[in-house]
Order: sequence, then structure tokens, then C-alpha cells
Amino acid sequence: MDTGQGSATAEPDGLAGRFDPDDAASIAMARARILARVEHACRRVGRSPDEVRLVGVSKTVEPERLRAAVAGGVTTLGENRVQEAESKVALVPGATWHLVGPLQSNKARKAVAIFGMIESVSSVELAERLDRIAGELRDGEALPVLLQVNVDGDPAKSGFSPDDLAGSLPAILALPHLRVDGLMTVGRMAADPEGARPTFVALRRIAEGARRAHDSVGAELSMGMSDDFEVAVEEGATIIRIGRALFGARPSGAV
Ligand SMILES: *Cc1c(COP(=O)(O)O)cnc(C)c1O
Repeated sequence: MDTGQGSATAEPDGLAGRFDPDDAASIAMARARILARVEHACRRVGRSPDEVRLVGVSKTVEPERLRAAVAGGVTTLGENRVQEAESKVALVPGATWHLVGPLQSNKARKAVAIFGMIESVSSVELAERLDRIAGELRDGEALPVLLQVNVDGDPAKSGFSPDDLAGSLPAILALPHLRVDGLMTVGRMAADPEGARPTFVALRRIAEGARRAHDSVGAELSMGMSDDFEVAVEEGATIIRIGRALFGARPSGAV
């Protein structure tokens, strides 16, 4: 796993050193506990823990704590708002950033500039716009994206319906400056993590179908959050997006 160390020394302003070492230690411990639970979940189903990447979802968490997170080994951070990410990136050296929330087309240019992966591509139009911008900004290097699927048809969530995804894939896969690494979904809110399992099973099957139909769809499955990541890992998650279990509860009212 990339620890992100090494890039800190490239920072001229010494920002990387400014964090609370106790906070770094407690985030490192939270990370270790999560990774141990991932390992157990993998063992239950015969997977290798190396197949699972942790994204620390850092919305509402201030940059100083995110420097502590990077020092504690959490080097891939997920944000759900472009503007919030924009205010943090320069203050958190050594991190790479994933967009995990809905993207408005007027923020697409900023998003391409900031994020190493956009996990929440939810329409052909957005994919086309990102492709155009990636062609301008990324010097020939394709932009890694995931296609978000609204597996349960929840009106409160964005993402392709499973049927729309199948119909949209040919157009998206033809875009030269995007690399479709796989699919992403948000599990059902449920009192019991088992409540999210049908969503994760469904995403895995949708991904299998997409990969059978198109060689160029990647194998990433981003699913699972603080309350349900073990179930997601059992069902094949390769990326888990963890906020509260790493950073503690968010202020009430935060998404
Ligand atoms: C907030 C958020 C997460 C993390 O949620 P936790 O329950 O805090 O782990 C994961 N994915 C998305 C899309 C989110 O918005």
C-alpha cells in the first residue's frame, strides 16, 4: 500500500509537520482496527486483504487533522464537495483525493484539477464533459473514474439506474480521456449492516455483467462505509469509503 511518505519532504513550507501527533496516533489506531476487520471479512470469504483499499472520507474534517491522517497512514482521502476539497488540497500534502459526491457540471474543471479519481460519475453528459476537460488538463493521461449506480432506485441518491448504465456504457467507454475503473454505490441506510447486503450483491452482479459485455470496464467496486464495510468486503468491495470510523462523528446536520 502506498504510504504517501516521501512527498512530505517536497513541501517547502513545512506544513506537513504541523499536526497533533496524538491525533495521528489515534487515527492510525482507528485505521489499524478497520484494516483488521477488513482482513477478517476477507478471510471469511477467501479474499486477499490486498484487494481492498481504504479511502478516508474527510468531509467536515479540518486540514490539520487530515495531515495527522496522512501521517497515520490514511493517504487517500474522499470528499463529497468540490469546493470543500479545493480549500483543503494545498494544506494536506501527501494525500490523493477521490470525489465521492455528486458533481455539478460547472465544477467539473476544478474537479479534474483536484481529484485523482472521480467515483461519482452519474451521467453520460458529465462523463463527456470530464473527458473534454481531462483531454485539456491531463497531458494525455486518462482520468480514472467510477460510474455510480443507484442500485435501489432511491430518489435521494444519484447514479445510473442499472438499465441506464448498460445503455450508457458504450458511449462512456468510447471517451478517450477517461478510464472506467469500475462501479460505485452507496448502500441502503439500515439499522443492521446486513440491510445493505442486497445492494452490494446487486452492484457486484451489475459489474460482472458490464465486464462480460465490455473488456475495458475495470474491476473496482467502491462500496461500504463505516456501518457496513465488512458486509461490502464480503461481497467483493475493492474500495471502502470510511468517514466516522476513522475520524469520529461528524457535526450534526453534515451530510
Ligand atoms: C460520507 C460518505 C461516506 C462515509 O460515510 P461514513 O458513514 O462516515 O463512513 C462514504 N461515501 C459517501 C458517498 C459519503 O458521502
